[in-house]
Amino acid sequence: MIQIKNLTKIYKSKKKGTHRALNDVNITLPNKGLVFVLGKSGSGKSTLLNLIGGLDKITSGKIIVDGNDISTFKESEYCNYRNTHIGFIFQDYHLIDELSIYENIVLSLHLRKEEDKEDVKRVLKTVGLEGYEHRLPTELSGGERQRIAIARALIKNPRIVLADEPTGNLDPITATAIMDILKIISKDCLVLIVSHNEHDAYKYADRILKLDEGQIIQDNVRNPKIKSDIVISSETLMIPHDRVINDKEIEAINKKLENKSIKKISKSERKYVPYVEPNEEVEKVQILNKNLSLRNTSKLSFRFLKSKVGNIILSSFIASFIVVVLALSESFITFNHKDILVSEMEKMGIQTYSMSRLTTAEEQTKLNVTSSYYVPITDEVIQEFKDTNYEGEILTSYNYVLTIGSSGRAFQYSSNLFYNSVFTKESLGTVVTSEDYLKSIYGDSFKWLAKAEVEQPYGVYISDYLADCITKNNNLYSKKIGYDKYVGEYFYSTSKNCYGYINGVYDSGYKTTYKAVLDKYLAGQYKDYTDIMRDTAFGEFYSDFYGKLGFLYSFNPNFREDFVNSNICMRTPHSTISISESKEDPIRRTSSSRYVMYDRNETYKLSSNGMAMSYELYNDFFGTEYTSQNLKAFTPRTITINSYDLLEPGYKTITASIKVNVEKLINTSNTGYVGSEVATFFTDTTLMRDSIIFTSSDHFKPIVEIAEKYNFKTNLIAIEGVSTITKAVEVFVPIFELVGGILLVATVFILTTFAMKMIRTKMHDIGIMKALGAKNRTIYSIFGLQLSLVSLITCVVSTVGYYFLVDVTNNILLRSFLKISPQAMVLDIQFIHFNPIIALINVILIIFLTVISLVIPILVIRKIEPVKIIKAKE
Ligand code: ADP
Repeated sequence: MIQIKNLTKIYKSKKKGTHRALNDVNITLPNKGLVFVLGKSGSGKSTLLNLIGGLDKITSGKIIVDGNDISTFKESEYCNYRNTHIGFIFQDYHLIDELSIYENIVLSLHLRKEEDKEDVKRVLKTVGLEGYEHRLPTELSGGERQRIAIARALIKNPRIVLADEPTGNLDPITATAIMDILKIISKDCLVLIVSHNEHDAYKYADRILKLDEGQIIQDNVRNPKIKSDIVISSETLMIPHDRVINDKEIEAINKKLENKSIKKISKSERKYVPYVEPNEEVEKVQILNKNLSLRNTSKLSFRFLKSKVGNIILSSFIASFIVVVLALSESFITFNHKDILVSEMEKMGIQTYSMSRLTTAEEQTKLNVTSSYYVPITDEVIQEFKDTNYEGEILTSYNYVLTIGSSGRAFQYSSNLFYNSVFTKESLGTVVTSEDYLKSIYGDSFKWLAKAEVEQPYGVYISDYLADCITKNNNLYSKKIGYDKYVGEYFYSTSKNCYGYINGVYDSGYKTTYKAVLDKYLAGQYKDYTDIMRDTAFGEFYSDFYGKLGFLYSFNPNFREDFVNSNICMRTPHSTISISESKEDPIRRTSSSRYVMYDRNETYKLSSNGMAMSYELYNDFFGTEYTSQNLKAFTPRTITINSYDLLEPGYKTITASIKVNVEKLINTSNTGYVGSEVATFFTDTTLMRDSIIFTSSDHFKPIVEIAEKYNFKTNLIAIEGVSTITKAVEVFVPIFELVGGILLVATVFILTTFAMKMIRTKMHDIGIMKALGAKNRTIYSIFGLQLSLVSLITCVVSTVGYYFLVDVTNNILLRSFLKISPQAMVLDIQFIHFNPIIALINVILIIFLTVISLVIPILVIRKIEPVKIIKAKE
């Protein structure tokens, strides 16, 4: 029973202002029967229907349906009410085109969490469309569609069926059929029909309401005294006075009259009489809270997706692409060049690794010097390295080297490598260690090839590789055969001023290990410098040179002391000293290209603190104008030579000092030649630890950290290349952070766009579902599930994509760096790795972004008003 009390509906629109569509309407409608609401267009019929159906909000007054005041309902209660109480039939049928007839009808049940195939069959039978289950709405005629709409309303056994112009779009015959069905239905429930078809009303209605300008102007019920419509019996003809008689009926009546069979024509009575409100008790019917089950929500969600596969694929792939780029960006954001460095070292299998501390550009600027030089490695720094959890050995090397070739330096990757040859021209330095160390780094293959009869405490051991280099580079030794020829005193060049002592030659096995590289080199198969730089095998050889092959070894713990006292003069760059007449007046020059030599052969007949000095240098220091012609005119004089703390700007602290008697000026490209005492002074002040050797790349990260803190540089170009390039990559981290942020927004945009696209194409269906009683929550779920599917695909595709694109990205980066710097030795750097944590974070991120992406769609879905969607087209 519906009790409508003082019902008023006022529409407010910007265009038309306020409009009173219903004005103080009071009516009571029964539980059963067919009620027609008649009236001109715009009289408020649909408004009344929509208010009763809970599709629109009441302005004032009350509608009490089966004891429930629906004017007090909240949104979800309205949904429950429409879902469980009301069956709607619209002029435009409003079926969901994607769904089959069966699905359209069963949707009504699903919304109530019910399912019964037999019921579908039953209602289809009622509307005369048995076997139509699998058709689509688009395959049906208008009349058939309206029958389906009726079936959809009927299946839930509603208490009230509301029909807005149900036959408005149908031809008369079909319309009659529909009306007949509605008439039958009205035996079990209230059928309220809005129409302007008076003929139908008087033919079918149990009650007729007339509306005009929002008010009830007539409320009639069928006269209860009249049992039936028209009575044409064998003797009686009874026609209600306001009954419209159709052609068929006229024919039948005339036939009876012709035959004169009718004896009695009853007095016509009013068929409809004014409605008098009955005094009925209202039975309260509970409105149930029902929802679409998750299973059916998912089904519907995917049914709606079916025609939109392209959309899903496109959106998922764009989103996946963005997330892959995001993952790569994240890899770069978390990029730490130290990690890469360490992993590259591990990958290259570098066992021994040396680093040196050279003055940095800033230090040079601060010190006002142009060239870089080695800085001694202090005990404190070495201790700092040792205090880490590093497990390998930490050895240091002194800067005592053997000059092997004419240009006097270790081979390096420079453009004239082919000119220099792969055989080094200078050893690397002297490592004070034990024989066990050599055995440990060379393994079982280690053995002595030759040893001196008398091993000197200041002597060194060399690898067979260095010995072979001496053969290749030094004419003096070219005729020597057998490694034993190298042991004993070592002279470099005919002047024999700079020499050393070789205690022994060991077998490094380098000829076997690096056979391929050496064969290739000797056969001239390296086409150019870049070719060498890109050869991993060559890189390994190179790394071994700088890790072990190129070093001299001493097993004497007092090596430095014994070396200094041995009077074997080192080649000493004079940039480390100052020369002056007195301590207080230091005159310093910074050229590092000249060397102080020990006049071992007594060529210049010097006293032990004497010096034969380059006249040019002397002129330079003291402002004299000696030429090579008047050197004999020089009178010997005493000068002071000071040694300073290398890293102290202004060189205030003198670390050592000696008085030297300049006895001769000579014509030489070196600084000069000195007597034994001076030679010892130079050796003592310049022999220092300048590189540090690590024997393992395990737990290397803290080592790299300390090395960076003190500006250590590795001698391995490959590692130095990795370091430089990876540091360069690190510079871009803020850019990647920015890109990452933009990509996050882009992902939300893509997901939102997808959801909005899906919603926009389904506005009509959403309206219908809402009208049928689907809650907003249900609609969110339908579209949320679609979005979740896209997210799921995105998670999978992006993770797989990330996994595979890591390599591609590494390759692109590597190739770019090689293009920028073809001279650098870059061996297959893995800049980024597939990081499962990033992949996991991204999955979580996608879920989070999906939730964010639901905000706008949810707002849009909330805004969709079913009343606007189902409004009949006029
Ligand atoms: P009927 O169904 O009798 O043709 P309606 O109930 O649809 O009439 O409308 C009644 C009046 O209310 C009409 O004048 C119509 O223009 C107006 N109206 C209906 N819906 C709205 C609306 N959403 N906003 C403003 N005016 C409306």
